[in-house]
Amino acid sequence: MLFAKNYMTLRRKMVQNQIEARGIHNPQVLAIMRKVERHLFVKPQYLNVAYQDGALPIDCDQTISQPYIVALMTDLLELTPTSKVLEIGTGCGYQTAILAELARDVYSVEIISGLVKSAKARLETLNYRNIHLKKGDGYYGWREHAPYDAVLVAAAPTDVPERLIQQLRPGGRMVIPVGGSEQNLLLIQKGLQTDENSIQSLETTEIIRVRFVPMTSGLN
Ligand code: SAH
Repeated sequence: MLFAKNYMTLRRKMVQNQIEARGIHNPQVLAIMRKVERHLFVKPQYLNVAYQDGALPIDCDQTISQPYIVALMTDLLELTPTSKVLEIGTGCGYQTAILAELARDVYSVEIISGLVKSAKARLETLNYRNIHLKKGDGYYGWREHAPYDAVLVAAAPTDVPERLIQQLRPGGRMVIPVGGSEQNLLLIQKGLQTDENSIQSLETTEIIRVRFVPMTSGLN
């Protein structure tokens, strides 16, 4: 266990060496990555490696994502203080907290009830009032609050779930890892206009190769 100021030093270094060094320069994203205390989201045995350059195990065989990937996905969403965000795969709630710092509201769906419970307790202790969690299957999204300005998927399906596309507003942005044991991180931008057949136009950009835990269950 280190003192708070030591953790702050580690966070600054993390941002400089892992995030800025890899080309992320959005000042808001960098400031939030410096602010949110990742060590409060990891298991006690990983406290001393909380700011290292990798994913770490959390409960239920899941992982907290690598800081760089959290920053990258957040940056790609281009959030504003009025954004309404859908997250699939709350896990320990670290990414959720980052999103909540930049957006108006975050709706996050997690399939493992034990993780929903622990993330809820943690995020309440940290006083986040704009985070809404529910246990559910992310393939369905969270229809009641749609459409979303941004969708972030933190577990990997083999195909982009159709319902998540439906719940993204025209002009909205989605980041999602798609594939098998290794995936392509995709940025999907939904066009503002539907064409004459009312098919929504989607622009998909491959960002990098990533390794997320698989998105389980599902409809297909
Ligand atoms: N960003 C999270 C990453 C969690 S790992 C963090 O930093 O902690 C991915 C999470 O997706 C896991 O918690 C897993 O249980 C969850 N998950 C997998 N399939 C899912 C599904 N179909 N619906 C919702 N959550 C799912």
